[in-house]
Amino acid sequence: MEGQVASAQTERLAQLIQESECTVALTGAGISVPSGIPDFRTPGEGMWEKVDPMEVAHIESFRRDPARFWSFYRPRLHSLGGVEPNPAHEALAELERRGLLEGVITQNIDMLHFKAGSERVIEVHGSIRSLSCQSCGRGFAIADSEELFDPEGVARCSGCEGLVKPDVVLFGELLPTEAMAEAEALAARADLMLCVGSSLEVYPVAGLPSIALGGGGKLAIVTKGPTPYDRDAELRLDGDVAEELSAVLAAL
Ligand code: ZN
Repeated sequence: MEGQVASAQTERLAQLIQESECTVALTGAGISVPSGIPDFRTPGEGMWEKVDPMEVAHIESFRRDPARFWSFYRPRLHSLGGVEPNPAHEALAELERRGLLEGVITQNIDMLHFKAGSERVIEVHGSIRSLSCQSCGRGFAIADSEELFDPEGVARCSGCEGLVKPDVVLFGELLPTEAMAEAEALAARADLMLCVGSSLEVYPVAGLPSIALGGGGKLAIVTKGPTPYDRDAELRLDGDVAEELSAVLAAL
């Protein structure tokens, strides 16, 4: 970023990235906050204000009362579809283009890493890109989702009328096995894991830094607030993720 003076910490992170043969980023909700997507753990913000996401975005709620689920999730899909990546996403995409980043493992479903130009993105919680019929498996693109809603506000399959669910991991659901296996393999190879905007508290994703450490990798944490890995980390940056990563990029 122009005119930005890199701190000793950002320069140290730039150095770690240069020294590393295999750097992997692990990102969470915090990287998308500068894009205007509130982290649902932050109370009193946006559409999470009036509902308990753990309850309404739970697979059991979806099955039991799909109209209620969609009354919450349909506007969420719309608003997420319109958001743009911020300099933190762009910095990671640029690192990949420069051959300094192997890939991004993300807990986010917002597709912002793709929009920023990242190529290798492992979405361990799925994404809003598509929806699937829970009965026959037919897939639908997010762009066509509006046509699926019946008068009750429930998305139904145009083939079999079955319930259609966004291809995101809801609370109470297991993470996609393939994506998790790829994420674990990447973590095991990492010389440096750059954890950005994640509190690193939600398993199994929270176990990925352990895998990196176990394989001799280092951790760098760029996130606001404490994480369980702070003592294991080579360094910690706790400012604004967009500013911090822009500064690191500038120091490279
Ligand atoms: Zn169907």
